[in-house]
Amino acid sequence: MAVIYAYELLPSKKMLLVPSRDIPHYIYSDSNSAGESMIRWTDFDGMAWECNIEDDGRPHTCGFNVFLGGGQGTDGLDLSSYKTINVDLDYSGHDQRLRFYLRNYVPGFSDINDIQTAKFNNVHVPVEYIHDRLVLSLSEFSVAEWWITQYKAPRENALPDFHHVVAFGIDTTYPGVPGMHSFKLKRLELVGEWVARDDWYLGILVFWVSVMMVGGAISLARLTREIRLEHQRLERLANQNSLLAQETDKYKKLSMIDPLTGLLNRQGLSEYVEQYFPADSTRQVSMVIIDIDHFKKINDSLGHDGGDVVLKRVTGLIKSSVRQSDQIVRWGGEEFLMVLPDTSLEHSYHLAEEMRALIATTNFEQFPDLHITISLGVGTSNGDIPFHQLFRNVDLALYQAKAQGRNRTVRANDFN
Ligand code: GH3
Ligand code: MG
Ligand code: MG
Repeated sequence: MAVIYAYELLPSKKMLLVPSRDIPHYIYSDSNSAGESMIRWTDFDGMAWECNIEDDGRPHTCGFNVFLGGGQGTDGLDLSSYKTINVDLDYSGHDQRLRFYLRNYVPGFSDINDIQTAKFNNVHVPVEYIHDRLVLSLSEFSVAEWWITQYKAPRENALPDFHHVVAFGIDTTYPGVPGMHSFKLKRLELVGEWVARDDWYLGILVFWVSVMMVGGAISLARLTREIRLEHQRLERLANQNSLLAQETDKYKKLSMIDPLTGLLNRQGLSEYVEQYFPADSTRQVSMVIIDIDHFKKINDSLGHDGGDVVLKRVTGLIKSSVRQSDQIVRWGGEEFLMVLPDTSLEHSYHLAEEMRALIATTNFEQFPDLHITISLGVGTSNGDIPFHQLFRNVDLALYQAKAQGRNRTVRANDFN
Protein backbone atom coordinates (compact mmCIF):
# COMPACT_ATOMS: atom_id res chain seq x y z
CA MET A 1 0.00 0.00 0.00
CA ALA A 2 2.72 2.41 1.05
CA VAL A 3 4.51 1.76 -2.23
CA ILE A 4 1.38 2.79 -4.13
CA TYR A 5 1.25 6.10 -2.23
CA ALA A 6 5.00 6.53 -2.44
CA TYR A 7 4.38 7.45 -6.03
CA GLU A 8 3.12 10.84 -4.81
CA LEU A 9 6.46 11.40 -3.07
CA LEU A 10 8.59 10.69 -6.10
CA PRO A 11 10.43 13.81 -7.27
CA SER A 12 8.83 15.27 -10.39
CA LYS A 13 10.64 15.82 -13.62
CA LYS A 14 11.11 19.54 -14.23
CA MET A 15 12.45 21.75 -16.99
CA LEU A 16 12.80 25.45 -16.28
CA LEU A 17 12.56 27.57 -19.47
CA VAL A 18 12.09 31.05 -17.94
CA PRO A 19 13.86 32.69 -16.26
CA SER A 20 16.86 31.77 -18.38
CA ARG A 21 19.54 33.84 -20.01
CA ASP A 22 19.93 31.59 -23.00
CA ILE A 23 16.41 30.87 -24.15
CA PRO A 24 15.84 32.42 -27.61
CA HIS A 25 12.69 34.56 -27.54
CA TYR A 26 11.04 37.10 -29.73
CA ILE A 27 7.86 39.15 -30.14
CA TYR A 28 5.77 39.68 -33.26
CA SER A 29 2.81 41.74 -34.50
CA ASP A 30 1.52 43.43 -37.61
CA SER A 31 1.99 47.19 -38.10
CA ASN A 32 -0.25 50.13 -37.35
CA SER A 33 -1.55 52.65 -39.88
CA ALA A 34 1.70 54.58 -39.52
CA GLY A 35 3.57 51.47 -40.61
CA GLU A 36 5.11 50.84 -37.15
CA SER A 37 5.01 47.62 -35.20
CA MET A 38 2.36 47.61 -32.52
CA ILE A 39 4.55 45.52 -30.17
CA ARG A 40 7.77 46.40 -28.31
CA TRP A 41 9.95 45.12 -25.52
CA THR A 42 9.67 46.97 -22.28
CA ASP A 43 12.36 44.69 -20.79
CA PHE A 44 13.99 42.22 -23.18
CA ASP A 45 16.01 40.30 -20.56
CA GLY A 46 13.14 40.45 -18.10
CA MET A 47 10.76 39.16 -20.76
CA ALA A 48 8.32 42.07 -20.52
CA TRP A 49 6.57 43.43 -23.58
CA GLU A 50 3.57 45.50 -24.50
CA CYS A 51 1.26 45.67 -27.42
CA ASN A 52 -0.79 48.67 -28.46
CA ILE A 53 -3.53 47.46 -30.79
CA GLU A 54 -4.88 50.16 -33.03
CA ASP A 55 -8.64 50.63 -33.15
CA ASP A 56 -8.99 50.68 -36.93
CA GLY A 57 -11.63 47.99 -37.34
CA ARG A 58 -9.11 45.55 -38.78
CA PRO A 59 -7.85 42.28 -37.22
CA HIS A 60 -4.50 42.44 -35.49
CA THR A 61 -2.14 39.95 -34.00
CA CYS A 62 0.38 40.43 -31.26
CA GLY A 63 2.43 37.76 -29.52
CA PHE A 64 5.52 36.32 -27.86
CA ASN A 65 7.43 33.15 -28.55
CA VAL A 66 10.32 31.06 -27.12
CA PHE A 67 12.15 28.51 -29.26
CA LEU A 68 12.63 25.02 -27.87
CA GLY A 69 15.21 22.44 -28.87
CA GLY A 70 16.85 24.88 -31.28
CA GLY A 71 13.57 26.12 -32.81
CA GLN A 72 13.05 26.39 -36.55
CA GLY A 73 15.28 24.10 -38.63
CA THR A 74 15.34 21.40 -35.91
CA ASP A 75 12.91 18.68 -34.99
CA GLY A 76 12.33 20.27 -31.58
CA LEU A 77 12.11 18.90 -28.09
CA ASP A 78 10.24 15.83 -26.90
CA LEU A 79 7.82 17.02 -24.20
CA SER A 80 5.60 13.94 -24.31
CA SER A 81 6.69 12.84 -20.85
CA TYR A 82 5.63 16.19 -19.31
CA LYS A 83 2.20 16.70 -17.83
CA THR A 84 1.87 20.40 -17.21
CA ILE A 85 3.30 23.82 -18.07
CA ASN A 86 3.45 26.08 -15.05
CA VAL A 87 3.22 29.74 -16.04
CA ASP A 88 3.77 32.84 -13.95
CA LEU A 89 2.51 35.69 -16.12
CA ASP A 90 1.49 39.30 -15.38
CA TYR A 91 -1.02 40.64 -17.84
CA SER A 92 -2.93 43.88 -18.03
CA GLY A 93 -5.24 44.74 -20.91
CA HIS A 94 -8.75 44.22 -22.11
CA ASP A 95 -8.53 40.83 -23.73
CA GLN A 96 -11.01 38.35 -22.29
CA ARG A 97 -8.69 35.43 -22.94
CA LEU A 98 -5.10 34.77 -23.89
CA ARG A 99 -3.89 32.07 -26.19
CA PHE A 100 -1.06 29.66 -25.23
CA TYR A 101 0.39 27.39 -27.84
CA LEU A 102 3.00 24.70 -28.52
CA ARG A 103 4.18 24.30 -32.08
CA ASN A 104 5.12 20.72 -32.90
CA TYR A 105 7.15 19.67 -35.92
CA VAL A 106 5.44 16.73 -37.65
CA PRO A 107 8.00 14.40 -39.31
CA GLY A 108 7.05 13.69 -42.88
CA PHE A 109 4.49 16.51 -42.93
CA SER A 110 5.91 19.79 -41.64
CA ASP A 111 8.57 21.77 -43.49
CA ILE A 112 11.47 21.88 -41.05
CA ASN A 113 12.41 25.38 -42.31
CA ASP A 114 8.91 26.85 -42.03
CA ILE A 115 7.75 27.05 -38.43
CA GLN A 116 4.22 27.89 -39.66
CA THR A 117 3.86 24.31 -40.89
CA ALA A 118 4.58 22.93 -37.39
CA LYS A 119 1.37 21.70 -35.78
CA PHE A 120 -0.38 24.38 -33.76
CA ASN A 121 -1.50 22.89 -30.40
CA ASN A 122 -3.28 25.63 -28.42
CA VAL A 123 -5.44 26.45 -25.43
CA HIS A 124 -7.38 29.66 -24.69
CA VAL A 125 -7.33 30.70 -21.03
CA PRO A 126 -9.70 33.35 -19.60
CA VAL A 127 -7.71 36.21 -18.07
CA GLU A 128 -9.14 35.71 -14.58
CA TYR A 129 -7.11 32.49 -14.42
CA ILE A 130 -3.94 34.20 -15.40
CA HIS A 131 -1.88 34.90 -12.32
CA ASP A 132 1.42 33.77 -10.85
CA ARG A 133 0.52 30.07 -10.66
CA LEU A 134 -1.26 29.20 -13.86
CA VAL A 135 -1.04 25.50 -14.56
CA LEU A 136 -1.67 24.39 -18.13
CA SER A 137 -2.14 20.71 -18.57
CA LEU A 138 -0.83 19.35 -21.86
CA SER A 139 -4.09 17.43 -22.11
CA GLU A 140 -5.95 20.78 -22.38
CA PHE A 141 -4.23 21.57 -25.66
CA SER A 142 -5.95 20.88 -28.94
CA VAL A 143 -4.95 21.35 -32.56
CA ALA A 144 -6.25 24.68 -33.94
CA GLU A 145 -8.96 24.26 -36.60
CA TRP A 146 -7.45 27.01 -38.77
CA TRP A 147 -4.11 25.13 -38.84
CA ILE A 148 -5.80 21.88 -39.92
CA THR A 149 -7.70 23.75 -42.64
CA GLN A 150 -4.80 25.88 -43.79
CA TYR A 151 -2.33 22.97 -44.10
CA LYS A 152 -4.91 20.37 -45.09
CA ALA A 153 -3.63 18.17 -42.29
CA PRO A 154 -4.69 14.53 -42.63
CA ARG A 155 -6.87 13.14 -39.83
CA GLU A 156 -3.99 11.41 -38.08
CA ASN A 157 -2.35 14.83 -37.65
CA ALA A 158 -5.45 16.42 -36.12
CA LEU A 159 -4.58 15.15 -32.65
CA PRO A 160 -2.27 17.05 -30.28
CA ASP A 161 1.32 15.89 -30.31
CA PHE A 162 4.27 16.96 -28.19
CA HIS A 163 7.12 14.80 -29.46
CA HIS A 164 8.85 17.53 -31.46
CA VAL A 165 7.95 20.85 -29.86
CA VAL A 166 9.81 23.69 -31.55
CA ALA A 167 8.15 26.70 -29.85
CA PHE A 168 6.00 27.88 -26.96
CA GLY A 169 4.03 31.08 -27.38
CA ILE A 170 1.53 33.46 -25.83
CA ASP A 171 -0.58 35.90 -27.83
CA THR A 172 -3.73 37.98 -27.90
CA THR A 173 -6.87 36.46 -29.28
CA TYR A 174 -7.87 37.01 -32.85
CA PRO A 175 -8.99 39.51 -34.18
CA GLY A 176 -7.50 41.53 -31.27
CA VAL A 177 -8.98 43.86 -28.67
CA PRO A 178 -7.87 47.49 -29.28
CA GLY A 179 -5.84 49.19 -26.60
CA MET A 180 -2.72 48.53 -24.54
CA HIS A 181 -1.78 44.97 -23.50
CA SER A 182 1.15 44.52 -21.11
CA PHE A 183 2.86 41.23 -20.40
CA LYS A 184 5.62 40.09 -18.11
CA LEU A 185 6.56 36.41 -18.19
CA LYS A 186 8.29 35.69 -14.91
CA ARG A 187 8.41 31.94 -14.94
CA LEU A 188 7.82 29.14 -17.41
CA GLU A 189 8.39 25.58 -16.31
CA LEU A 190 7.55 22.11 -17.60
CA VAL A 191 6.63 19.50 -15.00
CA GLY A 192 6.36 15.77 -15.61
CA GLU A 193 6.92 12.38 -14.06
CA TRP A 194 10.13 10.40 -14.13
CA VAL A 195 8.00 7.27 -14.02
CA ALA A 196 4.51 7.31 -15.46
CA ARG A 197 1.83 6.54 -12.89
CA ASP A 198 0.62 3.58 -14.96
CA ASP A 199 4.17 2.22 -15.22
CA TRP A 200 4.62 2.66 -11.46
CA TYR A 201 1.48 0.63 -10.69
CA LEU A 202 2.34 -1.94 -13.35
CA GLY A 203 5.82 -2.21 -11.79
CA ILE A 204 4.28 -2.91 -8.37
CA LEU A 205 1.98 -5.50 -9.91
CA VAL A 206 4.83 -7.18 -11.79
CA PHE A 207 6.92 -7.14 -8.61
CA TRP A 208 4.25 -8.87 -6.52
CA VAL A 209 3.38 -11.37 -9.21
CA SER A 210 7.11 -12.23 -9.39
CA VAL A 211 7.31 -12.51 -5.60
CA MET A 212 4.32 -14.86 -5.62
CA MET A 213 5.77 -16.93 -8.45
CA VAL A 214 9.16 -17.22 -6.76
CA GLY A 215 7.37 -18.07 -3.48
CA GLY A 216 5.31 -20.68 -5.30
CA ALA A 217 8.41 -22.17 -6.91
CA ILE A 218 10.17 -22.34 -3.52
CA SER A 219 7.16 -24.06 -1.88
CA LEU A 220 6.93 -26.46 -4.79
CA ALA A 221 10.63 -27.33 -4.49
CA ARG A 222 10.24 -27.85 -0.72
CA LEU A 223 7.18 -30.05 -1.20
CA THR A 224 8.93 -32.09 -3.88
CA ARG A 225 11.87 -32.63 -1.54
CA GLU A 226 9.60 -33.64 1.33
CA ILE A 227 7.76 -36.07 -0.90
CA ARG A 228 11.06 -37.57 -2.05
CA LEU A 229 12.29 -37.93 1.56
CA GLU A 230 8.96 -39.47 2.58
CA HIS A 231 9.26 -41.84 -0.36
CA GLN A 232 12.76 -42.88 0.70
CA ARG A 233 11.55 -43.33 4.28
CA LEU A 234 8.70 -45.57 3.12
CA GLU A 235 11.11 -47.54 0.96
CA ARG A 236 13.41 -48.03 3.96
CA LEU A 237 10.46 -49.14 6.08
CA ALA A 238 9.34 -51.55 3.38
CA ASN A 239 12.88 -52.99 3.23
CA GLN A 240 12.99 -53.34 7.00
CA ASN A 241 9.59 -54.93 6.85
CA SER A 242 10.65 -57.51 4.31
CA LEU A 243 13.83 -58.18 6.34
CA LEU A 244 11.62 -58.69 9.38
CA ALA A 245 9.38 -60.99 7.37
CA GLN A 246 12.43 -62.97 6.28
CA GLU A 247 13.62 -63.15 9.88
CA THR A 248 10.19 -64.23 11.05
CA ASP A 249 10.13 -66.86 8.36
CA LYS A 250 13.58 -68.05 9.37
CA TYR A 251 12.60 -68.37 13.04
CA LYS A 252 9.35 -70.02 12.14
CA LYS A 253 11.30 -72.62 10.19
CA LEU A 254 13.81 -73.00 13.01
CA SER A 255 10.98 -73.59 15.50
CA MET A 256 9.90 -76.54 13.41
CA ILE A 257 13.32 -78.20 13.37
CA ASP A 258 14.70 -80.33 16.13
CA PRO A 259 18.15 -78.97 16.97
CA LEU A 260 19.67 -82.30 18.04
CA THR A 261 18.83 -84.39 14.98
CA GLY A 262 18.01 -81.74 12.36
CA LEU A 263 14.72 -83.51 11.72
CA LEU A 264 11.31 -81.84 11.62
CA ASN A 265 9.71 -81.79 15.06
CA ARG A 266 6.10 -82.56 15.85
CA GLN A 267 5.15 -78.91 15.21
CA GLY A 268 6.87 -79.09 11.85
CA LEU A 269 4.96 -82.15 10.76
CA SER A 270 1.57 -80.55 11.42
CA GLU A 271 2.41 -78.18 8.54
CA TYR A 272 2.54 -81.19 6.22
CA VAL A 273 -0.35 -83.26 7.57
CA GLU A 274 -2.79 -81.60 5.18
CA GLN A 275 -0.45 -82.40 2.33
CA TYR A 276 -0.10 -86.10 3.19
CA PHE A 277 -3.65 -86.62 4.31
CA PRO A 278 -5.88 -84.45 2.15
CA ALA A 279 -9.55 -84.70 3.09
CA ASP A 280 -10.80 -85.81 -0.35
CA SER A 281 -7.96 -88.13 -1.39
CA THR A 282 -7.65 -91.85 -2.10
CA ARG A 283 -3.91 -91.64 -1.90
CA GLN A 284 -2.14 -94.45 -0.17
CA VAL A 285 0.11 -93.39 2.66
CA SER A 286 1.90 -95.43 5.30
CA MET A 287 3.04 -94.44 8.76
CA VAL A 288 5.82 -95.95 10.88
CA ILE A 289 6.45 -95.08 14.53
CA ILE A 290 9.86 -96.07 15.88
CA ASP A 291 10.75 -96.18 19.57
CA ILE A 292 14.20 -97.07 20.88
CA ASP A 293 14.02 -99.91 23.36
CA HIS A 294 15.12 -99.28 26.94
CA PHE A 295 16.58 -95.93 26.13
CA LYS A 296 16.46 -94.93 29.76
CA LYS A 297 19.05 -97.60 30.48
CA ILE A 298 21.26 -96.34 27.63
CA ASN A 299 21.10 -92.91 29.15
CA ASP A 300 21.87 -94.35 32.54
CA SER A 301 24.97 -96.17 31.34
CA LEU A 302 26.33 -93.66 28.81
CA GLY A 303 25.10 -90.45 30.32
CA HIS A 304 22.78 -87.96 28.69
CA ASP A 305 25.40 -86.83 26.19
CA GLY A 306 26.09 -90.42 25.23
CA GLY A 307 22.33 -90.84 24.78
CA ASP A 308 22.39 -87.83 22.44
CA VAL A 309 25.15 -89.41 20.37
CA VAL A 310 23.07 -92.56 20.03
CA LEU A 311 19.99 -90.52 19.04
CA LYS A 312 21.95 -88.80 16.29
CA ARG A 313 23.39 -92.04 15.01
CA VAL A 314 19.96 -93.71 14.94
CA THR A 315 18.62 -90.67 13.05
CA GLY A 316 21.34 -91.18 10.42
CA LEU A 317 20.53 -94.85 10.10
CA ILE A 318 16.80 -94.19 9.67
CA LYS A 319 17.47 -91.47 7.09
CA SER A 320 19.72 -93.76 5.11
CA SER A 321 16.99 -96.41 4.83
CA VAL A 322 14.19 -94.26 3.37
CA ARG A 323 13.41 -92.43 0.16
CA GLN A 324 13.79 -88.68 -0.42
CA SER A 325 10.04 -88.30 -0.51
CA ASP A 326 9.58 -89.94 2.91
CA GLN A 327 9.19 -87.60 5.84
CA ILE A 328 10.95 -88.38 9.14
CA VAL A 329 9.93 -86.54 12.30
CA ARG A 330 11.35 -86.64 15.79
CA TRP A 331 8.09 -87.23 17.57
CA GLY A 332 9.33 -87.35 21.13
CA GLY A 333 12.49 -88.08 23.10
CA GLU A 334 13.53 -91.40 21.48
CA GLU A 335 10.51 -91.77 19.27
CA PHE A 336 10.40 -91.16 15.53
CA LEU A 337 7.48 -90.97 13.16
CA MET A 338 7.76 -91.59 9.42
CA VAL A 339 5.25 -90.77 6.72
CA LEU A 340 5.74 -92.76 3.51
CA PRO A 341 3.57 -91.44 0.69
CA ASP A 342 2.36 -93.88 -2.01
CA THR A 343 3.60 -96.86 -0.03
CA SER A 344 1.65 -100.02 0.70
CA LEU A 345 1.48 -101.69 4.11
CA GLU A 346 3.64 -104.57 2.92
CA HIS A 347 6.25 -102.33 1.52
CA SER A 348 6.43 -100.21 4.65
CA TYR A 349 6.49 -103.30 6.88
CA HIS A 350 9.39 -104.59 4.82
CA LEU A 351 11.19 -101.32 5.14
CA ALA A 352 10.53 -101.25 8.90
CA GLU A 353 11.99 -104.71 9.33
CA GLU A 354 15.08 -103.77 7.34
CA MET A 355 15.53 -100.76 9.56
CA ARG A 356 15.10 -102.83 12.70
CA ALA A 357 17.72 -105.34 11.48
CA LEU A 358 20.12 -102.57 10.52
CA ILE A 359 19.95 -100.95 13.95
CA ALA A 360 20.16 -104.24 15.83
CA THR A 361 23.42 -105.05 14.01
CA THR A 362 24.95 -101.61 14.22
CA ASN A 363 28.20 -101.15 16.12
CA PHE A 364 28.88 -97.84 17.78
CA GLU A 365 32.55 -96.88 17.52
CA GLN A 366 32.45 -94.82 20.69
CA PHE A 367 30.62 -97.48 22.63
CA PRO A 368 31.90 -100.91 21.43
CA ASP A 369 29.77 -102.83 23.93
CA LEU A 370 26.57 -101.09 22.99
CA HIS A 371 23.80 -102.88 21.18
CA ILE A 372 20.47 -101.29 20.70
CA THR A 373 17.17 -102.36 19.32
CA ILE A 374 14.05 -100.58 18.23
CA SER A 375 10.35 -101.46 18.19
CA LEU A 376 8.10 -100.32 15.35
CA GLY A 377 4.44 -99.90 14.57
CA VAL A 378 3.31 -99.77 10.95
CA GLY A 379 -0.04 -98.81 9.36
CA THR A 380 -1.47 -97.69 6.06
CA SER A 381 -4.34 -95.51 4.92
CA ASN A 382 -5.82 -95.70 1.42
CA GLY A 383 -7.19 -92.22 1.81
CA ASP A 384 -9.87 -93.57 4.11
CA ILE A 385 -8.27 -92.95 7.52
CA PRO A 386 -7.45 -89.50 8.83
CA PHE A 387 -4.03 -88.79 10.25
CA HIS A 388 -4.99 -88.85 13.90
CA GLN A 389 -6.77 -92.15 13.62
CA LEU A 390 -3.94 -93.76 11.72
CA PHE A 391 -1.54 -92.42 14.33
CA ARG A 392 -3.59 -93.95 17.11
CA ASN A 393 -3.63 -97.32 15.32
CA VAL A 394 0.10 -97.29 14.61
CA ASP A 395 0.86 -96.20 18.18
CA LEU A 396 -1.21 -99.15 19.43
CA ALA A 397 0.75 -101.46 17.13
CA LEU A 398 3.99 -100.09 18.61
CA TYR A 399 2.59 -100.72 22.07
CA GLN A 400 1.91 -104.28 20.97
CA ALA A 401 5.51 -104.65 19.76
CA LYS A 402 6.76 -103.49 23.14
CA ALA A 403 4.35 -105.80 24.91
CA GLN A 404 5.44 -108.74 22.76
CA GLY A 405 9.03 -108.35 23.93
CA ARG A 406 10.42 -105.43 21.86
CA ASN A 407 12.82 -105.52 18.88
CA ARG A 408 9.97 -106.24 16.49
CA THR A 409 7.53 -104.64 14.04
CA VAL A 410 3.75 -104.90 14.45
CA ARG A 411 1.27 -103.98 11.70
CA ALA A 412 -1.76 -102.00 12.86
CA ASN A 413 -3.96 -103.95 10.45
CA ASP A 414 -2.89 -107.20 12.09
CA PHE A 415 -5.13 -106.58 15.04
CA ASN A 416 -7.62 -103.96 13.75
P1 GH3 B 1 10.82 -98.64 26.40
O1 GH3 B 1 11.64 -99.75 25.88
O2 GH3 B 1 9.61 -99.01 27.08
O3 GH3 B 1 10.63 -97.60 25.33
O4 GH3 B 1 11.75 -97.96 27.54
P2 GH3 B 1 12.42 -96.61 27.51
O5 GH3 B 1 13.35 -96.46 28.61
O6 GH3 B 1 13.06 -96.38 26.16
O7 GH3 B 1 11.20 -95.64 27.62
P3 GH3 B 1 10.88 -94.42 28.45
O8 GH3 B 1 9.84 -93.63 27.67
O9 GH3 B 1 10.54 -94.82 29.79
O10 GH3 B 1 12.17 -93.55 28.52
C1 GH3 B 1 12.64 -92.76 27.48
C2 GH3 B 1 13.83 -92.01 27.92
O11 GH3 B 1 14.44 -91.24 26.90
C3 GH3 B 1 13.51 -91.08 29.04
C4 GH3 B 1 14.36 -89.85 28.72
O12 GH3 B 1 15.23 -89.50 29.74
C5 GH3 B 1 15.15 -90.18 27.49
N1 GH3 B 1 15.24 -89.06 26.59
C6 GH3 B 1 14.23 -88.40 26.05
N2 GH3 B 1 14.73 -87.42 25.24
C7 GH3 B 1 16.11 -87.48 25.29
C8 GH3 B 1 17.18 -86.75 24.64
O13 GH3 B 1 17.00 -85.83 23.90
N3 GH3 B 1 18.44 -87.14 24.94
C9 GH3 B 1 18.71 -88.14 25.80
N4 GH3 B 1 19.94 -88.49 26.04
N5 GH3 B 1 17.71 -88.84 26.40
C10 GH3 B 1 16.42 -88.53 26.15
MG1 MG C 1 9.46 -93.96 24.36
MG1 MG D 1 11.82 -96.36 24.39
